Amino acid sequence: MVKVVIVGAAGRMGRMLIAGALQDKDLELAGGVVEPGFPEVGADLGNLGGQQPIGVFAVDNLDAAIGNADVVIEFTAPEASVQHVELAARHKKAAVIGTTGLDAAQMERIRAAARSVPVLVAPNMSVGVNVLERILPLIARTLGEGYDIEIVEAHHRMKKDAPSGTALKLAQVIAEALGKDLDDVGVYGRHGIAPRTEGEIGVHAVRAGGIVGDHRVIFANDGEEIEIVHRAFSRQTFVLGALRAAKYIVNQKPGLYSIQDVLEVA
Ligand code: NAD
Repeated sequence: MVKVVIVGAAGRMGRMLIAGALQDKDLELAGGVVEPGFPEVGADLGNLGGQQPIGVFAVDNLDAAIGNADVVIEFTAPEASVQHVELAARHKKAAVIGTTGLDAAQMERIRAAARSVPVLVAPNMSVGVNVLERILPLIARTLGEGYDIEIVEAHHRMKKDAPSGTALKLAQVIAEALGKDLDDVGVYGRHGIAPRTEGEIGVHAVRAGGIVGDHRVIFANDGEEIEIVHRAFSRQTFVLGALRAAKYIVNQKPGLYSIQDVLEVA
């Protein structure tokens, strides 16, 4: 049994991760961490996950829960995530990070922590999106220059970061496949007099209602268009990926891993 602590246990993902961990015969839910000052501090984790009480209670700091764990699963917010990985590294525990919106400096700190423990960072835990990461470079390279590339993502109204970590990752793998730097070719939304220039990769974010996560990648020239769409119907797809990642990462050597390492997308 792999013992997991879920950080962000009162969040949308955290609650579903609790339910998922409780149903997984290979996992033991060893603890849950909620934000300090939140009403869920002290709540039974079973209840937070919409299940029967289990007699394990939410705490308000990872330090208090990590001793019982083999691996930390983290879905919170960027700065909190980095601090949690640094704490996991001090305790020599593996970590799975689902939080998106990490900037370059925060990724650098995570990379530093990953020198002493295995850490998996995945802005999208679904198999389908990771298949896209494999096939989009092939499409981009095969089409070559002359096709306009645009990525349109849509998420629920509560999502904080924009564009999504997934849209950025997809833009990055396409840019790399074309031998370009996303910092040079990425254009994030358009407003006013903003004509498209050659070679741009446009990235656009829609925020509405309860959309779980849609990503659409368009390759178009004057004569034709290829459109690749991924639509997550439920957060359950991310939960299953994260739990699988937790079981994988506990057996790895220190280092930074991606979900591609787990999903064995050929
Ligand atoms: P949410 O706002 O519902 O939940 C985040 C939770 O983290 C909140 O309950 C908040 O109180 C808690 N939190 C913040 N700081 C904390 C701290 N220091 N200690 C403990 N808890 C803390 O958001 P969500 O929809 O569950 O998403 C969380 C993150 O996961 C976001 O970055 C989101 O983009 C990302 N996400 C990733 C994937 C993926 O596949 N990787 C899928 C869905 C969401």
